[in-house]
Amino acid sequence: MCLLKAEGEDKTLLFEKSAEVLRQNIGDKVHLRGLIEYSNYCIKDCLYCGIRRSNHNQQRFVVSKEEVLKSAEEALEKNYGSIVIQAGERTDQAFIDEITALLKEVKALSNDTLGITLSLGEQTLETYQQWFEAGGHRYLLRIESSNRTLFEKIHPNNKIHRFDKRIEALHNIRKAGFHLGTGFMIGLPFQTIGDLADDLLFLKNIDVDMVGMGPYIEHEDTPLYQYRHLLKSKEERLDLALKMVAALRLLMPDINIASTTALQAIASDGREKALQYGANILMPNITLGDYSDNYHLYEGKPCTVENETEDCIYAIDHRMARINKLIGYNEWGDSKHFKNRQSVRNYVKN
Ligand code: SAM
Ligand code: SF4
Repeated sequence: MCLLKAEGEDKTLLFEKSAEVLRQNIGDKVHLRGLIEYSNYCIKDCLYCGIRRSNHNQQRFVVSKEEVLKSAEEALEKNYGSIVIQAGERTDQAFIDEITALLKEVKALSNDTLGITLSLGEQTLETYQQWFEAGGHRYLLRIESSNRTLFEKIHPNNKIHRFDKRIEALHNIRKAGFHLGTGFMIGLPFQTIGDLADDLLFLKNIDVDMVGMGPYIEHEDTPLYQYRHLLKSKEERLDLALKMVAALRLLMPDINIASTTALQAIASDGREKALQYGANILMPNITLGDYSDNYHLYEGKPCTVENETEDCIYAIDHRMARINKLIGYNEWGDSKHFKNRQSVRNYVKN
């Protein structure tokens, strides 16, 4: 908890130490995941999210199969190594089969060279297994907050928004064979520093392989917006998010930590700072067409329509060079933690 309150010299020391642990355990490479925002249809109504089902101000879309494949080809051409397919949650059979078919096609077109991360919400074990067999191998499902009471405050009280169900889903993701990713939002209304310290311990306890966490950013078309007077300033939320990244790198030296888009929504160099203090994964948006403007989770999302794909991609090379990072082109950049766990398991078995 002290680390999350660090200021002045202590904060500098924290960032220096986390940068050193990052260098020693991961090195200077940043790995890319080209992000495809596949659809903003969602059956859920999370109280913080701009694409929640009840927000009728969002125009809904599904990216066509051809466009997803074109994005995947673009990721291949640009030597990204991996893509992420993310969407609002749907659990109907048509959606499950659509994703299965897409996974197979992306695998086939890339001759199995593109790694695929999925972020498609809570599903049954059978669905996770089906998607794993079709070619996905990493899955990100944020717990959002590991404090049950806070989780319940930021979700509607009904059977599709249950803390226990979310925990069960995390176990099923691992059971299906995926590298397990989770995370949370930082700076939520009602959230305390103690909650965030517990969130870090939660990650350690479930022995996560990869983490995506970032600042909560308000959206005016969501119920949580009414509590915006309780929020820390955006700068304070960014500062806290950076300390969380640094503290997590000290706690779990060999996991993958994403430098999330929400960091950049607050400060133009937010993602670079996270990469210097502990993160090692970047997710440039490669969604084609005008869709990204309708995948509006929060205010001020960077890299939408007017400055989309080419500019964002072009900027990344330069941005990384400026902070002395190398891009791990054509590499999956899987979590070392996952590999290390497998090695221990095999050693014990033999
Ligand atoms: N529907 C899937 C899910 O919830 O796991 C994947 C897509 S969802 C948009 C991805 C993440 O966006 C969520 O896990 C949540 O943490 C984040 N998010 C949603 N609204 C946000 C907000 N207002 N500020 C910051 N992050 C937000
Ligand atoms: Fe849907 Fe995910 Fe947004 Fe919740 S966070 S409303 S599940 S897209």
